[in-house]
Amino acid sequence: MNNIPETYQVAIVGGGPVGLYLGLCLEQADISYIILEKRSAPRPGSRSLGIHPVSLELFEELNIASNFIHDGIKIQKGHAFINTEKIGTLSFEHCPKPFNFILALPQHQTETLLEQALTERNPNTLLRNAEVKTITESNKYVEIAFDHNGEKHAIQSEYLVGCDGKNSLVRKQAGISFQGQHYPDTYIMGDFTDNTHFGSDAAIFLCNEGLIESFPLPNNHRRWVLKTADYIDDVSKEQLTSNVFNRIGHSLSSTQHTMISSFGVQKLIAKPMVKNRTILVGDAAHIVSPIGGQGMNLGWLDARDLANTLHQVLGNNFKKDTILNQYQKRREHAVKNAAKRAEMNMKLGRKITVPFFRKKLVSLMLKPPISQLMANIFTMRGIERWPI
Ligand SMILES: Cc1cc2nc3c(=O)[nH]c(=O)nc-3n(C[C@H](O)[C@H](O)[C@H](O)COP(=O)(O)OP(=O)(O)OC[C@H]3O[C@@H](n4cnc5c(N)ncnc54)[C@H](O)[C@@H]3O)c2cc1C
Repeated sequence: MNNIPETYQVAIVGGGPVGLYLGLCLEQADISYIILEKRSAPRPGSRSLGIHPVSLELFEELNIASNFIHDGIKIQKGHAFINTEKIGTLSFEHCPKPFNFILALPQHQTETLLEQALTERNPNTLLRNAEVKTITESNKYVEIAFDHNGEKHAIQSEYLVGCDGKNSLVRKQAGISFQGQHYPDTYIMGDFTDNTHFGSDAAIFLCNEGLIESFPLPNNHRRWVLKTADYIDDVSKEQLTSNVFNRIGHSLSSTQHTMISSFGVQKLIAKPMVKNRTILVGDAAHIVSPIGGQGMNLGWLDARDLANTLHQVLGNNFKKDTILNQYQKRREHAVKNAAKRAEMNMKLGRKITVPFFRKKLVSLMLKPPISQLMANIFTMRGIERWPI
């Protein structure tokens, strides 16, 4: 972008997966916008790997779903084990077609594809190396000051959307609180070359010592996630591989790894998500446990809803407060449901005191008709409508 225009209908702070997708939606709705992103390129590393069918349906509305499907792995089944005993398989085959699978794609590839789609449609709306420093809101507009390639700039917009992640500057400068709880659950995870026979299937091991999840990744790699008793700072390959071996007897020692890390789990929500002309979306608005892989997908659902909402609000000064209040209520409902579903996943993976009941419960969950409900819950169906 050579000359940066000074006014927009919407300014988006943060060009991660949610900010980029919101840009695509605003582009489609013919709303003028800019995305200010401090990084020069998508963050490396895989973090999120699951794109749910509800998100592929949103991507299809923009004619971009096939780009992701081309590069990702379709997970159509997940096998459940108690320790090493196979209890059953949950299939997504009977979920609504054509996206009756969860797509595995590392987050940096997802962000790269979203950016390509955005710049193909409009090369002038994503400004990289642009770090937002201060935000000032008045009755009529928001002023955003940022540094870009060593120079100071300021723009104005009617609405400001914070898509700037968990430590959101937008949220802090708007004086919005981030409330919730930290769970006792801690995990380690790593991406390894795949030496299992699971192919494109996922596998979940409910072990006496704690959960192991194993998901396929593109290029013959596999993500391993293990529940740990305590948070392990600076986890090593040996700690992860020996835990996998001790729990399920599978050796990863001859494999190569591309990433190893640890994480703890929180549930946090911004109160409010909408304050005057400032709106928070994605991780800036909420954090749910990564177990269940919903955070980024939840952000895309926010963004789609927000694009429709802004389309109404920008043309309707009279009812804008009501429209934005209704938007906030819908998003709060979706976050509450996602958090409940993530909690259910985490509880199943905790160290158990009564193994017999867990085996009975898991067997029941994998048999029709409950298996179909579980497949829908695991693929984020009904997150905006159902009571759970
Ligand atoms: C281990 C792990 C596994 C996960 N797995 C999944 C999964 O399988 N499925 C799933 O749906 N979710 C998953 N998640 C969650 C997912 O990674 C996040 O929900 C997602 O990254 C949120 O996207 P976002 O765009 O809201 O925020 P972010 O990805 O944090 O992006 C925020 C962007 O804002 C930019 N920014 C910040 N401050 C400024 C500023 N002042 N000026 C300009 N730019 C700024 C940052 O550089 C960044 O690019 C996982 C998370 C973790 C930790």
